[in-house]
Amino acid sequence: MRQLSEPIMSPIAENLQEARRRISEALQGDSRVVTLVAVSKTHPPEMVREAWAAGQRDFGENYVQEGVAKIAALADLAATWHFIGALQSNKAREVAERFDWVHGVDRAKIADLLSRHRPAGRAPLQVCVEVNISEEATKSGVKPGEALALARHVASLPGLRLRGLMGMASPSGDEAKARGEFAVLRRELEAIRAAGIACDTLSMGMSQDWRAALAEGATMLRIGTAIFGAREAHAWRAA
Ligand SMILES: *Cc1c(COP(=O)(O)O)cnc(C)c1O
Repeated sequence: MRQLSEPIMSPIAENLQEARRRISEALQGDSRVVTLVAVSKTHPPEMVREAWAAGQRDFGENYVQEGVAKIAALADLAATWHFIGALQSNKAREVAERFDWVHGVDRAKIADLLSRHRPAGRAPLQVCVEVNISEEATKSGVKPGEALALARHVASLPGLRLRGLMGMASPSGDEAKARGEFAVLRRELEAIRAAGIACDTLSMGMSQDWRAALAEGATMLRIGTAIFGAREAHAWRAA
């Protein structure tokens, strides 16, 4: 009888395995714990299930309606959901009610709304303050010099737990430039900790620039394309 061939891994499981392998290779000799957030925006719940089956537990979404629908469709999984998009005040309530983490807090008003709407029975919402490290006018985030004040405000609010900072490098493809920008975020986190405010998270690095982010101390990588493939024009929408 012919032997059955090796079981075929799904492309998502393969991509995850490869991503984890490269990350631990890049971290060699470094005991830092790095969380991989699989950015599932635009992809259907079935793809999230495949990643879950391959051991992935943290997922990132950046459109509120899509994320809320996906969380509902996947309520049977005990996944950790990260909101990584720009947050408008009229959507803060839904995010506070449904998500576990928010990475893009860039003003006190949004922090206040998230705090007010976080349901009492749930764990505190885990918050990263977004810092504009690429200094492009179109990008959101506070200026580097303003991160400490907003972090202090977040840390003071009930229902929220300040975890750290989030930033995005310019999409230049230039590794040295990305490292310089990520270094700004690392120094801001150090300044917040030096001020006696507890936090532990540097959310930085995507499919193109995760190596530069890791080299500058990232503890959370947000990776979409390298895990789920290119995002299609026809994004998944809840029926
Ligand atoms: C889409 C997105 C990512 C993932 O980007 P990839 O290039 O697909 O890895 C990470 N962070 C944020 C804020 C995003 O919007």
